[in-house]
This record gives sequence, structure tokens and C-alpha cells, in this order.
Amino acid sequence: MLRTVTTVPELRGLRAAAAGPVAFVPTMGALHEGHLSLVELARRRVGAEGTVVASVFVNPAQFGPGEDFERYPRTLSEDRELLRGSCDVLFAPQTAEIYPQGTPGTTVRGGAAASILEGAHRPGHFDGMLTIVCKLLNIVQPDLAVFGEKDAQQLFLVRAMVRDLDLPVEIVGAPTVREADGLARSSRNAYLSGPERELAGALPRALAAAEQAAGAGAGAALRAAAEALAAAGLEPDYLELVDPDTFGPVPDGPAEGLLLLAVRLGSTRLIDNRRLRLGG
Ligand code: AMP
Repeated sequence: MLRTVTTVPELRGLRAAAAGPVAFVPTMGALHEGHLSLVELARRRVGAEGTVVASVFVNPAQFGPGEDFERYPRTLSEDRELLRGSCDVLFAPQTAEIYPQGTPGTTVRGGAAASILEGAHRPGHFDGMLTIVCKLLNIVQPDLAVFGEKDAQQLFLVRAMVRDLDLPVEIVGAPTVREADGLARSSRNAYLSGPERELAGALPRALAAAEQAAGAGAGAALRAAAEALAAAGLEPDYLELVDPDTFGPVPDGPAEGLLLLAVRLGSTRLIDNRRLRLGG
């Protein structure tokens, strides 16, 4: 049975009563199949005896001025219905429950990887994200927490925080769930008009083109992705290859690379990424 709680003491009470392992899936709500795949992975990891906790909290601290905090979709009753089958506890606090003093004076600041790519385009975003993830991990105290590879830079930074600050939790990455044309599921897809949704198919096409070209090296992969976006009239906010283990430059010669891109479609910003085996 799904229990919905809105306060930290209630959540802590349920945590203290949990006999088996606890798995946690933090979200901002407007749940879709991508989120549900994380919840299902969490369930597989802890089994029927364990407890799966999901949170729905649209964290103001990770939105910059002029971003979509106000219009971010809020669909809590639908979210609750979707979670009913696979989740035990839904934590859905109000902003004042999480930030009773307003903007917190103590925050988590990510390392160098927090200020490149998404971090360069959304100053402060990752510090806001890391701070809320740290708070939620301290509130829920799970044995493991599941994050999507869809937000690869976020996953990298969360793993780094857990390692750097010795947080006692296992971070589990989950594969990206996609639409039929390959577009990654995202709560922000709801913003897209019909024609924008058509154009958004260029993102997975760009990633596929890069994969096709990857055998010829990093430059070829980047060129192929850029050409696929340009063919749809799209210019990315960024399109970059990094070493997935460091988020630094990919070494010369054969290597694993992570291609990341962000594209603006009207007022909507979409991100995606793909691991590539680079030749050359
Ligand atoms: P969000 O609600 O967008 O903050 O996402 C909450 C969690 O769901 C994050 O760990 C995301 O990486 C993950 N997520 C979002 N979209 C997808 C997707 N299409 N496939 C898998 N995981 C996802």
C-alpha cells in the first residue's frame, strides 16, 4: 500500500520502522515511464521485504532566474496513481518543510564538473541539485538511491558528492527510457508543440549518427551529431564529448566517450547523452 507523507518527522518515523533495505528515487514529479523504471529498479534491488521511497519535490534552489520553476508541471494526484503499484512511500513535502529558514546558508558545491556543460548554461543549478539530494538522502537515509543516466552529469556529480563526503548510500544508475522515435522521456516534453515534438526527433538521430561515426574517432562523431542537428535547423547549446569517468577531455586514440547535448526548441530546453566507443 502506498503511504503519502508530507513532513520530515513522518518520513523519519516510517524509515525507523522499516525492517529490510530501503531504496530511494528522488524526482520532481510529472512522472512518466522513465521515473517508473527507476522505481521498478529500486523494487528489484530491495525485494518485496524492502521499502521503496519516492519523493516529488520541485526544488526552487535548482532553477535559475527566468527558468521554468513556475510553469514546471505539477501533477501530484496522477503521480500518486502511477506509483501505487511499485512504491511504498511517497514523500511530497511543501517548500517550507524542506527550507523552513528560506534559502539555506549551508549548501553543497560541486567540483569542477559542476560548472561545465549544463552547469555553464545554468549557473548554480548543480549546487541547488546537490544540496537537495544531500538533504533528501539525510532525511530518507536509504541504503541505495536510483538516478537516471538521462541526466548523466547529475549522476556523475551525485556519485562524486557521495564519494567526497562519505555519504553512506549506494548510488545506482538506470538506463534512459525513450519514446518510439528515440526521444528521451522527460517531464519537459509536455511543453513541446506538435511541430517542436517532430523536430525533437533530431536529438536521438544526432546521437545515433555519432554512434555510427564513432569508429572514425571523436572528431567524426561530433561532426556527425552536429550535422544531424543542423539538418533539422537546430543549433545546440552544447554538443561535447567527455571522458565518462572524469568529465574531462577524452584521451586520444581508442577510448570510451560520453556525448552530451542540449538543444533549445522554442522555450523548451532538452538534454540527452550517449556512451560511445571511439576508434581512431
Ligand atoms: P526529474 O523528475 O526530471 O528530476 O528526474 C528524476 C529522476 O528520473 C532523475 O534521476 C532522472 O535522471 C530520471 N529520469 C528522468 N527522465 C528519465 C528517463 N527518460 N529515463 C530514465 N530516467 C529518467
